[in-house]
Amino acid sequence: MQNMVILGATGSIGASTLSVMEANSEQYRVFALVANTNVDKMLEICIKHRPKVAHMVDAKAANQLKLQLPNHLAVEVTTGEDELLSLVSSAEVDTVMAAIVGAAGLPSTLAAVKAGKRVLLANKESLVMSGELFIEAMQASGAQVLPVDSEHNAIFQCLSERNQLEIGRCDLTAAGVSHILLTGSGGPFLTSDLSTLSSMTPKQACKHPNWSMGRKISVDSASMMNKGLEYIEARWLFNASAEQLKVVIHPQSVIHSMVQYRDGSVIAQLGNPDMRTPIAHCMSFPQRINSGVEPLDFFKVGQLSFLEPDFNRFPCLALTIEACKQGQEATTVINAANEIAVQAFLDGKIRFTDIAIINEQSLKNVTADSLTNIDDIIALDSQSRRYAFEAVSKLN
Ligand code: NDP
Repeated sequence: MQNMVILGATGSIGASTLSVMEANSEQYRVFALVANTNVDKMLEICIKHRPKVAHMVDAKAANQLKLQLPNHLAVEVTTGEDELLSLVSSAEVDTVMAAIVGAAGLPSTLAAVKAGKRVLLANKESLVMSGELFIEAMQASGAQVLPVDSEHNAIFQCLSERNQLEIGRCDLTAAGVSHILLTGSGGPFLTSDLSTLSSMTPKQACKHPNWSMGRKISVDSASMMNKGLEYIEARWLFNASAEQLKVVIHPQSVIHSMVQYRDGSVIAQLGNPDMRTPIAHCMSFPQRINSGVEPLDFFKVGQLSFLEPDFNRFPCLALTIEACKQGQEATTVINAANEIAVQAFLDGKIRFTDIAIINEQSLKNVTADSLTNIDDIIALDSQSRRYAFEAVSKLN
């Protein structure tokens, strides 16, 4: 029986994780559920899954939850940053699903890594911001990190067992890997007329053709910023060089990514676009469990197609690849700026095409004096947010 904590339990990944746990309840127990403000959803999942602890980052939300939870459930409600960090590090916890959205997920994810937990990593922003420190912490504690993001999970499945055991320090060249082919659907605006992009609404941007996801990652998929963040994530998880990483547009989202070997072989992982597959894979690795996902029907799929990314259409992708080349300072800056820009777009304050403009300006103008520890990273993240806020107000 594995005791699990779900960080981001009220979100899209949280829901898929709870669904896989429910289907395999003889092997997994919901130890703790963590969210920010969504009391209604937390109440609903506490009643259904009966965790030992429910943690709300927002103190008011924690109070409301306490008042609304039926006493007989005996769920302990907690709040506060220190409480969250000790919760994920608790000796009772085996596995942590890291699925808080954005930079807010970094401290708790890193605490789980430092405590040597089995960490199922959905929060790509942790690696984007702190890649090197994250991998070092993982090596120091012996934590096992398994990639939940469908592309990275696919790559992981296509690598040799040896590489799978060497996450963060794989020697891809020695393993005969020539390229990691990171696939992406191209999102809802893949074929839209370029002149219409500036007038696209949040509703249109969030209407992903294949995946159902939270709003922030949906907008990132429309701009292909998400693929850029995944490019950085792949760089760290698989110790890949820029020459070894390629982005391939694959509109059907059936192949979730591929690994190309020196001898001409290409190994791909395929499946229906449903996050329960990579989540179940991570939860049970190296075994396999039932995820509840329909088997892939090749006769229904019919065709698979591939395109080269168009950087004019997807400037955020070009910017993140450039940031990855520049290093951790640049990736922290662009990640923070993008979070502000995406929220401003979702709030109707800026146009879709302004997201790339804000990201580019932030990348050019925000720099750090030094970046040697997590406090430096968080300070740089805040600095970039402030810059992006101002840039948003100038565009308003
Ligand atoms: P959602 O927006 O659906 O859910 C976000 C979760 O994070 C909610 O539980 C939310 O709580 C919580 N949260 C938000 N802010 C904070 C905070 N400050 N402190 C603590 N918790 C917070 O996001 P997704 O589930 O879509 O994505 C989660 C992560 O997984 C992201 O990093 C994303 O990039 C990654 N991912 C998602 C995929 C998907 O298919 N959805 C695929 C691959 C990766 P509350 O509800 O209370 O606000």
